[in-house]
Amino acid sequence: MDPYKTIISCTNQKGGCAKTTTAVNLATSLAEGNPSMGIPPAKVLLIDLDPQGNASTSFGVDKRLDVPTVYDLLMQPSDGTLNVHDYLIGPDILTDEMQRAFKNMNQDSRIPPRLKVENLYLLPSNIRLSGAEIELATKLGRETRLREALAPVMDDFDHIIIDTPPSLGLLTINALAASNWILVPVQAEYYALEGMSQLMNSIRLIQKRVNNHLKLFGIAVTMYTPQSKLSAFVEGEVRKHFGEDVFQTVIPRLMSIAEAPKDGAPVVLLKKPTKRNKGSKQYWGLAKEAHQRILARRAEYGVNPESVLRREAIERGDPEHIWDDIED
Ligand code: ADP
Ligand code: MG
Repeated sequence: MDPYKTIISCTNQKGGCAKTTTAVNLATSLAEGNPSMGIPPAKVLLIDLDPQGNASTSFGVDKRLDVPTVYDLLMQPSDGTLNVHDYLIGPDILTDEMQRAFKNMNQDSRIPPRLKVENLYLLPSNIRLSGAEIELATKLGRETRLREALAPVMDDFDHIIIDTPPSLGLLTINALAASNWILVPVQAEYYALEGMSQLMNSIRLIQKRVNNHLKLFGIAVTMYTPQSKLSAFVEGEVRKHFGEDVFQTVIPRLMSIAEAPKDGAPVVLLKKPTKRNKGSKQYWGLAKEAHQRILARRAEYGVNPESVLRREAIERGDPEHIWDDIED
């Protein structure tokens, strides 16, 4: 695994700190891109590694039990004959599912034209994955099964984002073993810092035993309540402890963010990133910072990989989609 590749696990063993919301919005905005913010579109794989399947439902995808999921990939025999691509929900179906979910909830409204994705692929999950923790325990190579399954498709995506369950069990270890980076959402509330030292210890252990490429990508302060002294205090503490690792962009606690999954799409798609739509604006801001960190990491390793979208457009002979890299 190349250390500069963008494989980010969104992880914190605490439940409800916006792991899924952050993973889903980041994956979507990096996939769609936003030229005016300097974010080029990219081919993105979002992996739902939580048996609750919340990342999948965020796009209105039914957690049907009869579809192949990441569970089957992890459980495959060690000869690794399963192909990740057979398990993916691609942009066309994702778009259909989002629009269907929106229509179900808003029967009298027109489907917003923004409600579509072009470059986003989802590896879904459902409750069957909850058996994986126990079943994996007795399997050979139990910590690196996801990494092995992803190896053949590493060059097919610009970025891979993994949403993890609220625990530091084998599923999360598989995510961290397959990642170069870990993004930690921290809820701006009283117990936020509790558990952070346990998380940092776990990261160190993974670095030592399974994946010495793993680094902290950043800490995102989420569910910030403006005017709350407590939120301001927690943000201050997080910045004091983690300094530059903390993203400048803070995600406020807003109904528009919480309600977006009901309308079948992440807030970055549902709403334009304007002053009025603070939820979308802030998640786009986080994506911009994330993109800058990705570029910095590539520069650190002296690499400038060609965008997968651009390569595929050239292969198809599709000049309309052969844009110049924005950062040039
Ligand atoms: P996790 O994956 O860490 O358990 P979620 O992303 O599922 O956390 O978020 C937990 C709950 O809080 C969800 O109902 C989600 O919609 C809501 N939520 C997440 N971020 C925000 C926010 N910024 N403002 C309001 N509600 C939020
Ligand atoms: Mg979650």
